[in-house]
Amino acid sequence: MASDDIARLAELLREFKGASRTATVLTGAGVSTESGIPDFRSPGTGLYCFIDPMEYLSVRALERTPEKLWKFFADSYAAAADYQPNAGHAAIAKLEEAGYVGAVVTQNIDNLHQRAGSRNVLEVHGHLRTAHCTACGVTVPFTSATDQVLGGAPVPTCAECGSLIRPDVVLFGDDMPADFLRASEAVRSGSLLLVVGSSLEVSPVNYFAFEAERLAIINRSPTPADRRADVVIHGSAGDALSSLAAELGVA
Ligand code: NAD
Ligand code: ZN
Repeated sequence: MASDDIARLAELLREFKGASRTATVLTGAGVSTESGIPDFRSPGTGLYCFIDPMEYLSVRALERTPEKLWKFFADSYAAAADYQPNAGHAAIAKLEEAGYVGAVVTQNIDNLHQRAGSRNVLEVHGHLRTAHCTACGVTVPFTSATDQVLGGAPVPTCAECGSLIRPDVVLFGDDMPADFLRASEAVRSGSLLLVVGSSLEVSPVNYFAFEAERLAIINRSPTPADRRADVVIHGSAGDALSSLAAELGVA
């Protein structure tokens, strides 16, 4: 990670703030790997090394093999509340507090931006706080659903009507939530987009990187949008964002 790249990124953020504009941050699973949560696509450790996403994380899977989908969620995320925000989440919250960042658009479902103090968080792939009944719509805490599965039930069922409960995350094949439209407006309203820890392989969110007026990327591996970015930093999100916050005097 070159310090002149951090300096250039800091300069871009200063330029926008000086013009009374803010940056939008777009995060992916890579901002949370330093909290111990595996991402999907890192070679060797990403969850896609072990599962086929369409088999576990799609609307089709929910309909045909809900027990597989729920085993995945119970095994991977029942203890999500135990993970702690890392230096990257903390730096993003400080950049928002200092007026450099207007919104955090996250593909993550782990709640770590909010827990680090970010206020305007748009969750474009849902979250793990709740789940709901596919028949009567009643909402329950996500952990009450995973508790049923960990207790031996093949799938969690609704206490009101006995139907299947589903997680409040966006599965492949689901419509995008209202936060996606809000995120799209934030990106289109003439912005600097700072992408952190995303492979930019998942559509439609990855289009944001091609719609933003100015673009900066912090990611361990190359992405399809690197060549149109003003600044690209290949390295740790926690290190790069901590250096950026320090450079801007908000650390
Ligand atoms: P991805 O797995 O496709 O890509 C993650 C990217 O982050 C990779 O390119 C990797 O090189 C990079 N990376 C990993 N660790 C990093 C680090 N410490 N610093 C900098 N870069 C790092 O993830 P994605 O683009 O977010 O898309 C996949 C989907 O994964 C999203 O829809 C998201 O909902 C879901 N997901 C979320 C979580 C979570 O909530 N924490 C975890 C796994 C997957
Ligand atoms: Zn019900």
